[in-house]
Amino acid sequence: MSYDYDICVIGAGPGGYVCAIRAAQLGKKVAIIEKRPGDKKKGPRLGGTCLNVGCIPSKALLDSSEHYYNAVNHFPEHGIEISKAKVNIEQMMTRKNKVVGDLTNGIAYLMKKNKIKVHEGLGKLVDEHRISIDNEGTVSEISANNIVLATGSVPVELPFLPFDGEHIISSDQAIALDKIPKRMVVVGGGVIGLELSSVWSRLGSEVHIIEFLPKIAGTFDKDISKQLQKVLTKQGMQFHMECKVTGAKKQRNVMQVSAEQKNGEELSLTADKVLVCVGRKPNTSNTGIEEIGIALTETGRVQVNPSFQTSSPNIYAIGDVIDGPMLAHKAEEDGIAVAEILAGEHGHVDYNMIPGVVYTWPELAQIGIGEDAAKEQGFKIKVGKFSYAGNGRAKAAGDTDGMVKVIADADTDQVLGVSILGPRASDIIGECVAVMEYSGCAEDIGRICHAHPTFSEAVKEAALDAIGRVIHA
Ligand code: FAD
Repeated sequence: MSYDYDICVIGAGPGGYVCAIRAAQLGKKVAIIEKRPGDKKKGPRLGGTCLNVGCIPSKALLDSSEHYYNAVNHFPEHGIEISKAKVNIEQMMTRKNKVVGDLTNGIAYLMKKNKIKVHEGLGKLVDEHRISIDNEGTVSEISANNIVLATGSVPVELPFLPFDGEHIISSDQAIALDKIPKRMVVVGGGVIGLELSSVWSRLGSEVHIIEFLPKIAGTFDKDISKQLQKVLTKQGMQFHMECKVTGAKKQRNVMQVSAEQKNGEELSLTADKVLVCVGRKPNTSNTGIEEIGIALTETGRVQVNPSFQTSSPNIYAIGDVIDGPMLAHKAEEDGIAVAEILAGEHGHVDYNMIPGVVYTWPELAQIGIGEDAAKEQGFKIKVGKFSYAGNGRAKAAGDTDGMVKVIADADTDQVLGVSILGPRASDIIGECVAVMEYSGCAEDIGRICHAHPTFSEAVKEAALDAIGRVIHA
């Protein structure tokens, strides 16, 4: 039986497009289908949630808002005097859109370079080899020996706070507001909620974050997430912890948000925008998954075996639509692994080795487990800590909030996890991932020469602290 392609990928997010490139590198004839409309001449917008409404636009706005925040709050202490800094939100959004446009065009170039055929439209499984493509009502069909589902995820909606795109918004709209809201209520103190709260709070919004759990930033080390909460509170964000949103009513042109506090009392907040960030759900609708009977997990994600194969043997799935952390770099690793498996190689992804980052300032990054999780899981551990207050580069930069925590096995010294709250934690965590990938020990990190003065020296000191040899504390 011959097919149009060896592999067809549905969805051109970081999972899908990376999978397509790796498969093409391995000599496969590859097609990719993307439904996000783009330029009539250039084809669909590639890059998925990550490039269009996720990682990249949020970081562009985080960087712009950080410049503004520093200009207002930190320039004077550095001896820089400027006349009043002012936000031009239109220019900030134009810049963000240009960053996104340049990167999505870059993916289109990569598709061409790797001879990957891009189809625009909604891809729907017809059977285990055939896919229909609906491009604004024009329907065509292609076939492939193997199909990779990379359809990603969409924001979760609360039934009592349905998105209206105007007053009750998701992250998709929160990265594209044309005015700085006076008051914003953010429902959910997870990664996306904290990042977008940072953007709008820095630009001048009064931001209230309502979180159901006793801690922000979900799975991160408890102490460190408490410290982050303190720093963000100092920056002006207001947290309502162990608090449950019960509804919101529109009164004139603003929202009145009601919530139940831990002590049972009602909290009422007025907001121009209510940003709901309570998680994302796998995007399985309109994909044909249900019609052809592909099995889902209890949480509604596509069920796969360790080789990313679904219950239909020729169909594979990767990224946010399957289990594991909903992160772009995890989706990319899945994509590479599947391409290699389909080429007869041994693709594999260890989900314990996927770093997580919250791009607040300071940044929060973690690999492996935090102290509380290590104890809950019964590990006998030793903990090394080092505060950025003792780091020369942090002092020079005026960025001394935060700390590094290294968790190592008490007997073997093997590193079980590293949590960093500090400047550029997102970049520094890379070293810790490498050490853990090679089953390294706290002493290994402590003996590696780190350039001076750098923020990364705090990691070395925390590792030395774990083995009782810290120098600068
Ligand atoms: P997606 O990126 O969601 O891509 C799926 C693609 O499939 C989409 O383009 C969609 O249009 C297309 N599609 C869906 N169904 C069909 C169909 N039937 N036919 C054709 N096309 C279809 N992650 C990080 O690692 N770091 C971050 O800093 C980060 N920041 C984020 C900030 C925000 C505000 C958000 C919302 C997310 C962020 N994420 C971040 C998460 C990250 O964006 C996702 O984990 C990642 O994009 C998942 O990749 P994916 O390829 O699985 O799916």
